[in-house]
Amino acid sequence: MSRKKPDIYEREKQGYWEAYHRSPSLKDRYPQVTDIRVEMKFKDTDGGSSPESKQEKYSQESKAFFKIVCPYAECISGGFDLSPAIDKLVASHLNKLDDTIICQGWQDEERRGKHHCFL
Ligand SMILES: [Zn+2]
Repeated sequence: MSRKKPDIYEREKQGYWEAYHRSPSLKDRYPQVTDIRVEMKFKDTDGGSSPESKQEKYSQESKAFFKIVCPYAECISGGFDLSPAIDKLVASHLNKLDDTIICQGWQDEERRGKHHCFL
C-alpha cells in the first residue's frame, strides 16, 4: 500500500497553481522585456549535499510568476520568490543581477515551527 502524502503538501501545491494562473504574462507585466533567464544555485546550510542547480526561462508569453518551489520535497511553506529581484533587475536597466534568497520554509511536517529550511 502506498503512503498518502499529507494534505498540507496538496494544499500548498494547489495554492501555487492558483497563484500561477492569476499571474499576468511577462509581456503584460514588463512590456519592454523580451525574455528572462534565471540560473539558480542551491546551497544546503546544514552541510548536507546541495540540490542540483536549475535554470528557468521566461519568454513574453510566459506567466510573470517567479516563485520557485523549494527542491526539498518535504519543505513546508518554502520556496523562492524571485519577483523582488526581477523587479529590481528590470527597474535598474541592467542585463544581469546576482541575488541571494533564503528559503524560509520548514524542513518537514515534524519540524514545522521549529526548523527552517534555509536552503
Ligand atoms: Zn525549503
